[in-house]
Amino acid sequence: MTLELWDKKIESMPSEKLKELQLKRLKELINRVYANNKYYKKKLNEAKVKPSDIKSLKDIEKLPFLTKNDLREYYPFGLVCTEIDEIVEVHASSGTTGKPVVGPYTRNDVDLWGEVMARSLWANGLRKNDRMQNSYGYGLFTGAHGFEKGAQKIGAMVITISSGNTKRQIDVMKDFGSTAIACTPSYSLYIAEVAEDNGLDPKSDFNLKLGLFGAEAWSEEMRTNVEKRWGITAHEHYGLTEIIGPGVVSECKHKKLHINADHFYPEIIDPNTGETLENGEEGELVFTTLTKEAFPAIRFRTKDLASIVEGKCECGRTLPIQSRIKGRSDDMMKVKGVIVFPSQIEAALMQVSGVSDNYQIVKSKKGDMYELSVEIEPTDERWAEGHLDNLEKKAEDEIYSILNLHVPVKAIEPKTIPRSTGKAKRVIER
Ligand SMILES: [Zn+2]
Repeated sequence: MTLELWDKKIESMPSEKLKELQLKRLKELINRVYANNKYYKKKLNEAKVKPSDIKSLKDIEKLPFLTKNDLREYYPFGLVCTEIDEIVEVHASSGTTGKPVVGPYTRNDVDLWGEVMARSLWANGLRKNDRMQNSYGYGLFTGAHGFEKGAQKIGAMVITISSGNTKRQIDVMKDFGSTAIACTPSYSLYIAEVAEDNGLDPKSDFNLKLGLFGAEAWSEEMRTNVEKRWGITAHEHYGLTEIIGPGVVSECKHKKLHINADHFYPEIIDPNTGETLENGEEGELVFTTLTKEAFPAIRFRTKDLASIVEGKCECGRTLPIQSRIKGRSDDMMKVKGVIVFPSQIEAALMQVSGVSDNYQIVKSKKGDMYELSVEIEPTDERWAEGHLDNLEKKAEDEIYSILNLHVPVKAIEPKTIPRSTGKAKRVIER
């Protein structure tokens, strides 16, 4: 097989060479933030670390973590390490809990972002002759802009439709001959549903072949459903506003998430003790941006749980591989002593024939304890058949086989759970 990589030198670099590059960049980074940002300087002084103490990659463990609370404290531009005038673009997260997280970019940061996104989209199979329907919401949010920059760097056509107006999405997809769609996986399913309601077959009435999905936790089982529904190959994108936006990892044809570790240095830590874990162990993902100028993040705690392995992939890339995100530590629920992630319930439900892609997990508080139940929408055909208690029982058994926990399941009328044009809200509190 010929190696078809966007940046062959970096993506297939021997691991020892990559580590040399990371160390060189880490030293430069620490020198730079120490000299240019009073917050970082104070934080390093408090930890009794000087830039000259960084002699090996392992020395990164001497540095303090950066948390979301730090970012809120220095909102909006307190952590900027260049002159403010050097900033040419600003993004921000939605800020559902408190102040939003701000992502400022210099000219070089914007170029870097385009480069890592091009690397990612190229790894997914996007090429110059593709037409990418960009159905992420344009605005302060990073998603749409990152995908646009990467696709344009490859030379693909970007259809800047943004999210929402679902009927129009379908018209444009058909008329413009979109070959790729970029949006949340749940929004793609909603578009498929509306297409079907309008008498179209998502598999045969469009030219779509690639799904470029992200910004949402979704299971492998849901990926299979999306692929079958549209007749496409679906790829996962992972990124964070604090790091750069999408573009932190590149998913290859073998569906392995290669971390762009020449720019984003990854660690896995024990979320309780902060101790660094070995390769292959599951824990909290921590990233250090090695090359970003305006807002370098040093040891940012993502709260996302995953593991990392090194070693060459079948695709030829040597960049370390990150597992799918098991869930955010914030989303973890403890029910009757059992740890539950929404993605585990999703994986169970997707195994049951007759259950559609639409479900919601209902969390209710009884005293100090949480109780869980699940509402599912059967497919139209299954709903028409009746005897829904059989379907509910099958779903409960499937959840029990994964979690060893009884979670009551209720089948509700198709198309009653609210649809989203962005991130789906899978867990609600009642
Ligand atoms: Zn690979």
